[in-house]
Amino acid sequence: MITIRTLAELVTQRASWPEDIGFVPTMGGLHEGHMALIRRARGDHEVVVASVYVNPLQFGPQEDFAAYPRTEDADCAKLAQASADAVLLPSDAVIYPRGRERQTQVHVPGLSEDLCGRHRPGHFAGVTTVVARLLGLVRPRVCYMGKKDYQQWRIVTRMVEDLGLATAIVGVDTVRENDGLALSTRNTYLTPAERSRAPGLYETLTEGAGQVVAGAALTDVEAACRERLKALGFAPDYVAVRCADDLSVPSATDSDLVILAAARLGRTRLIDNREFRR
Ligand code: AMP
Repeated sequence: MITIRTLAELVTQRASWPEDIGFVPTMGGLHEGHMALIRRARGDHEVVVASVYVNPLQFGPQEDFAAYPRTEDADCAKLAQASADAVLLPSDAVIYPRGRERQTQVHVPGLSEDLCGRHRPGHFAGVTTVVARLLGLVRPRVCYMGKKDYQQWRIVTRMVEDLGLATAIVGVDTVRENDGLALSTRNTYLTPAERSRAPGLYETLTEGAGQVVAGAALTDVEAACRERLKALGFAPDYVAVRCADDLSVPSATDSDLVILAAARLGRTRLIDNREFRR
């Protein structure tokens, strides 16, 4: 596996690769959820490229940018083990050569201000800006994204459509622990007591989806899920039932739905979701 740190190295490598590139952007702290994306790319493409970059632009001033796990050696070992061809480990200067303030920004309006965007102002503009830059540099045929970050996946898909980029975005199902907790780099923040409560998030969403299927009103289900999360020791940011494709508020005839939530457990903010049909 090749390690790429500079723009010059990336340009040289890119010129030597065939067009059939599968790309997996990450912030590192790699776990089996990330590896599912890598394995999917490995099965589908001649060349597999991953990136590990903790993007400062997508963290708010009060968020965990400084504390975010940085495990470069372990990440590279996992990627090599999974037969990735290259890992991009860019410095800030590679991603934002003019400096962060002067970087051209990409913002998907509407979708970026909803759900997590309400609680993390500027977060999704940070995500779309870095992903647009990475897609421009790597020019992959397909970019793999986890459905664990459901809103992010939909926003990046919208960005690629709106900008006419030549990369397809493919969503990959969430990888979970045996007790249902979605794998996340941030799970390492949980204390043992919080970790034992954490599966309650997905359990609550699963119950909520069942209630919608049984005919309950969406706003009643959302409220009941918030109360249940509070009773389990979470501080919910939101619980929402939306259309799976565009995250709009469902009408009575919409049947492909997703229930999404963000909730804090101590100092850790967890997100999760469940797709379902009614
Ligand atoms: P991150 O390093 O958290 O930015 O995640 C990098 C990519 O891995 C994103 O597309 C995430 O949605 C995806 N991902 C993270 N956790 C999981 C998981 N448990 N299952 C599937 N994909 C995941």
